[in-house]
Amino acid sequence: TIGEVFSQTVRKFPRKEALVDIRRELRYTYEQWETKVNRLANAFIAAGVKKGDRVSTVLFNTSELATAFFACAKIGAIFNPINFRLKEKEIAYILEDAAPKVVLFEKAVEPHITSIHEAFPHISFWYIDEDVPTYATNYYERVKQASATSPRIDVSENDIYAIMYTSGTTGRPKGVMHRHRDMIEQSLICNSVMRIRETDRGLVCAPMFHCAELHCCFLPRVHAGATNVILHHFDPKQVLRVIEQEKITFLFAAPTMWNMILQERLEDYDLSSLHVGLYGAAPMAPVLVKECKERLGIDLIQAYGMTEMGPAVTFLLEDEQLTKAGSAGRACLNHEIRIVKPKEDGPSDPDDVLPPGQVGEIIMKGPCMMAGYYNREEATAKAMYKGWYHSGDLGYMDEEGYLYVADRVDDMIISGGENVYPREVEDVLYEHKGVLDVAVLGEPDEKWGEKVVAFVVKKDPHLTAEELEQFCKNSDRLAPYKRLRTYYFVEALPRNASGKIQKFLLREQVKKAAQS
Ligand code: AMP
Ligand code: MG
Repeated sequence: TIGEVFSQTVRKFPRKEALVDIRRELRYTYEQWETKVNRLANAFIAAGVKKGDRVSTVLFNTSELATAFFACAKIGAIFNPINFRLKEKEIAYILEDAAPKVVLFEKAVEPHITSIHEAFPHISFWYIDEDVPTYATNYYERVKQASATSPRIDVSENDIYAIMYTSGTTGRPKGVMHRHRDMIEQSLICNSVMRIRETDRGLVCAPMFHCAELHCCFLPRVHAGATNVILHHFDPKQVLRVIEQEKITFLFAAPTMWNMILQERLEDYDLSSLHVGLYGAAPMAPVLVKECKERLGIDLIQAYGMTEMGPAVTFLLEDEQLTKAGSAGRACLNHEIRIVKPKEDGPSDPDDVLPPGQVGEIIMKGPCMMAGYYNREEATAKAMYKGWYHSGDLGYMDEEGYLYVADRVDDMIISGGENVYPREVEDVLYEHKGVLDVAVLGEPDEKWGEKVVAFVVKKDPHLTAEELEQFCKNSDRLAPYKRLRTYYFVEALPRNASGKIQKFLLREQVKKAAQS
């Protein structure tokens, strides 16, 4: 179980630095951290939390979240980290669905919790900052009163360890259930790819409520006895400063974060300790990967996956970035991927396999696949049809088994009967020096069905649509039907906390503009 993994590391590396919380200037060795974990676990028990009960967090990256992760694991409580960026109604929806016994929260999200807490009289709200709201209790008081000895609760590797609500770029968020065993497999797979050693120091700056950071980086580092340095939230200047101060060796960031880091004055920092970087959760233009190599002096590894799969399904390794640029890599150990013919009226058939090079739905299976969606039998049956997870992503595989992710089924543009994958157009636009950020989508059009339009954030304020048009015309990768009809210049693109562009918001904007 995850609780046992933690205890094993504590016994192996008791005096090793385990956790650094930059904001609070806290440093714990594994032994010290274990005491915190045990106290919190016992505090949960004292509050009536039993095996199988849910404990939610609405926290940014904090040592309290890290401690709650293992405290829950030890007592078989189900950990439910909630996205700190959600609005009050969205949080209320999850609290209703997950029905936790305890919720940990902090000052930055306090107004949201204050406005909804009355609807949840059975939940005990614990606050981790000063000026505790009247309806909540002080987290530290709870913990102080609890015993520091390890609780003895029988937990099995097949018990559910967490429920994570997916980002929900489509419809209501669904609670993905994972077992202890799934996450230990995931951690081992990630460790085998990233070769994490106890000497590694990883910076946690992507959101910990999301499994990319939590399962692919944070947990494997604990597994290996390495150090986790926690940043409350992402800020490119602070990331660079902390890499220098804390001699960080490993960094995971979403593509948009890497892009922000590259906009800083890199020569002002000593980044020599950093030797590996990971990106994933969304596509990253190959030109940006190259820039990281040139300007940060590090190799990047790409992960592709989704919450439902634990999340990693493929990795593109350091030395494959140039030879297989644009690919998401090959299947992880013990994983199988198929490209199948999409079906309009239901889940695609896993045996309808398409030949290499042909675009279809990406389906997969592996040891970290979810146990199902919480309270959603029908959605589970559809998503896991015939034992394969149906991702809703489109892509193809080459002859050597390298996966190329094209786009979400829902994001594909059909213009004049031809399929256009926004990503291939975005990748070209990213190569223009005047472009900082870009999102391509289809706009309803009488003549073509849909026309290709782009939302562009300028790096160069003088950039014009004509210039981009010429740039695309000169590109040898964009057939005329993939060329853009309209450019919308905007200040920023709407992204969710894990870095994915929220295209549905852009679509609404286009619709409104067309109506007025
Ligand atoms: P999530 O809901 O956060 O689990 O998001 C999973 C989705 O993110 C996948 O289905 C993909 O559409 C997208 N995604 C994740 N990793 C990558 C990647 N490396 N390249 C492209 N898209 C990705
Ligand atoms: Mg999803």
